[in-house]
Amino acid sequence: MAFQAGETVFNYINGEWTPSVTGQTDPSLNPSDKSQIVGYIQRSSKEDLNRAIDAAQQAQLAWRKLSGAARGDLLYKAANALERRLDEIAETMTREMGKTFPEAKGETARGVAILRYYAGEGMRKVGDVIPSTDSEALMFTTRVPLGVVGVITPWNFPVAIPIWKIAPALVYGNTVLLKPASETAVTAAKVVECFHEAGLPAGVINMVTGKGSEIGQGIIDHKGINGITFTGSNETGKRIGMGALARGAKYQLEMGGKNPVIVAADADLDLAVEATISGGLRSTGQKCTATSRVIVQSAVYKPFKQKLLERVKQLKVGDGMDPSTWMGPCASESQQQTVLSYVEKGISEGATLLYGGKVPDGAGDGYFVEPAVFDNVKPDMAIAKEEIFGPVLALIKVETLEEAVRTANDTEFGLSASIFTRNIGSMLSFINDMEAGLVRVNAESAGVELQAPFGGMKQSSSHSREQGQAAIEFFTSIKTVFVKQ
Ligand code: NAD
Repeated sequence: MAFQAGETVFNYINGEWTPSVTGQTDPSLNPSDKSQIVGYIQRSSKEDLNRAIDAAQQAQLAWRKLSGAARGDLLYKAANALERRLDEIAETMTREMGKTFPEAKGETARGVAILRYYAGEGMRKVGDVIPSTDSEALMFTTRVPLGVVGVITPWNFPVAIPIWKIAPALVYGNTVLLKPASETAVTAAKVVECFHEAGLPAGVINMVTGKGSEIGQGIIDHKGINGITFTGSNETGKRIGMGALARGAKYQLEMGGKNPVIVAADADLDLAVEATISGGLRSTGQKCTATSRVIVQSAVYKPFKQKLLERVKQLKVGDGMDPSTWMGPCASESQQQTVLSYVEKGISEGATLLYGGKVPDGAGDGYFVEPAVFDNVKPDMAIAKEEIFGPVLALIKVETLEEAVRTANDTEFGLSASIFTRNIGSMLSFINDMEAGLVRVNAESAGVELQAPFGGMKQSSSHSREQGQAAIEFFTSIKTVFVKQ
């Protein structure tokens, strides 16, 4: 199936594509050309949400009774469906949120791999035998599903993030209610279609689109939702955490970052430059793990800056479907405005804008912005402290590695951090002292392999971990069993 502009996407409730009771839709626009409507999504109400949660509750009992292997088998079929539609779904993603087509393909392929990983997880161990002091007793733990899990996702990874939440939720026996970001709900609907094609029983996965303040808040408040897994901004995450806590639902929050890269005096500068560009500017800087602060030792500050600038000037900004494009647009007008306002802030606070930071000539109806590089950034400036979520690199000069790590830690966030050095002692100090959930050596700050735990420290996360086998901690509860002869 090829990509089709202007499709209407329905909610997916109890195995059927269902229009909202409101009869209202919202357009989802192409950020490379806002005159193109990628699709229309349902502006749903609480009534739609309640129906979907009822369906998920009713499907729960039969789903949890199915063996893990049988649930895994269905995930494997969903992986095959996604793989068959990889190009179509990647193109929808590029048109809906702007990342380049090769990046969108990479993300969709990752979705396939995540589904296959969790398909296998259905046959791995879910408990331990614990020696009892009573020699006639058997004591062991097993894991049980939470029940119905609400999945609330952002627009920046519209395939991978929903899948890395939905796949473990399902394989461990939960049923799911997905509320995707409105900006990328057409892409999300195509992912849900893959589960439908795989033959998941009705009600096991449901999707309702609509406003965060209506449908997202409805998920927080609904007693039928036993766990909420969320990725998005800190503001929304805090609201979800407090709401879930108030009614005893389990919650998992993955939020923002202000990720540093440290370039030590002995670094391979070419490698550090390439990794800074890739980590900071791929996906137009709209990754939670994107590099935004570049902390460089004074001994190599000048040559690093020159090499970085040379490379950034070569990056072509444009429509993500154009094969010559290196960086696509911001995903929405509000993202573009946020980036432009931080560029203004950086200048007014006294940093030096070396390059970019403006809407390029010929941007037309797209939300394009040139990648920005700031020099003379001080750690207390807004561009060094606040998450911008756009293609803005802030260069900070430091004398020593101790100062570099101290500066890197001087933020409320703690998601990802990198160092470039050839010295084993510097690597080890960084690994020990850095306050981040992901610490990376001679590698860009963005990304982590799908079988490894993913998550942040400090205000980046609720401190549980996603991905790999770590996901079992959130998506199940431990039951301790004692059996006496
Ligand atoms: P957002 O918080 O605005 O939206 C995320 C989701 O929450 C959307 O589905 C939205 O509709 C919903 N939502 C909005 N208001 C709500 C409410 N009141 N109640 C319940 N749900 C509500 O975030 P965004 O702009 O879509 O995404 C960007 C943010 O996501 C950035 O801060 C980025 O760092 C973060 N992010 C984090 C990770 C990570 O793993 N740590 C990964 C990707 C993105």
